[in-house]
Amino acid sequence: MQEDNYRHRGMRQNLVQVLKDKGISDVNVLNAIGEVPRHVFLESSFVEFAYQDRPFPIGSGQTISQPFTVAMQSQLLMVTKGMKVLEIGTGSGYQACVLAQMGAKVFTIERQRNLYNKTKPLLAELHYHIKTFLGDGNKGLPTFAPFDRVIITAAAPEIPQNLVDQLKTGGIMVIPLNDETDAMKQRMLRLTKLKDGTMIREEFGECKFVPMLKEVGND
Ligand code: SAH
Repeated sequence: MQEDNYRHRGMRQNLVQVLKDKGISDVNVLNAIGEVPRHVFLESSFVEFAYQDRPFPIGSGQTISQPFTVAMQSQLLMVTKGMKVLEIGTGSGYQACVLAQMGAKVFTIERQRNLYNKTKPLLAELHYHIKTFLGDGNKGLPTFAPFDRVIITAAAPEIPQNLVDQLKTGGIMVIPLNDETDAMKQRMLRLTKLKDGTMIREEFGECKFVPMLKEVGND
């Protein structure tokens, strides 16, 4: 794994300032972004890009989310120490690490075998409390349910009922849901599960994610 030195830490603090200026206010989120070495998720020749507020290609046609998006979703999730969080779309593993740095016990599912094989050993080296799974996130992880929080980091065509079922009462799901009129765009939603199983729905503007697909594959 690449080293993490004072220069990287300096770049991270600049990134934290950029995110504050863009409206991220949750101190736990900002501290976590200040701690997690984002450059280790990119090839070493791209270190200059690691601390810019931009998404970046990570191979297999996928991207590491923009830091602002990671911060925004983490803030909406309202995570506290010890919570069980299910993430759909492990990708680079960066979002999972930010949540783990905030004290969450993270369970994360990736459907692409290549990415899963690349990310799993990296996450193990980083020593966070993260369990990785290869599978279709639409199915969730019934054996580990219920979860306090569910975060979906791919564009969902619908709210997956399995994931609603695997959420605790009072639990929160953050999901970029496809726009009914324009499938290229999503709306960021925060859903809170009530006792009777219904969901309170809050909207937080437009966003853009790679699509949430079904079944395991290498495409
Ligand atoms: N959270 C990631 C960003 C992920 S990009 C990060 O921090 O880097 C979205 C990821 O979701 C991609 O890796 C894609 O392969 C994955 N994905 C898409 N559909 C999925 C599904 N049904 N189940 C699990 N992962 C899925």
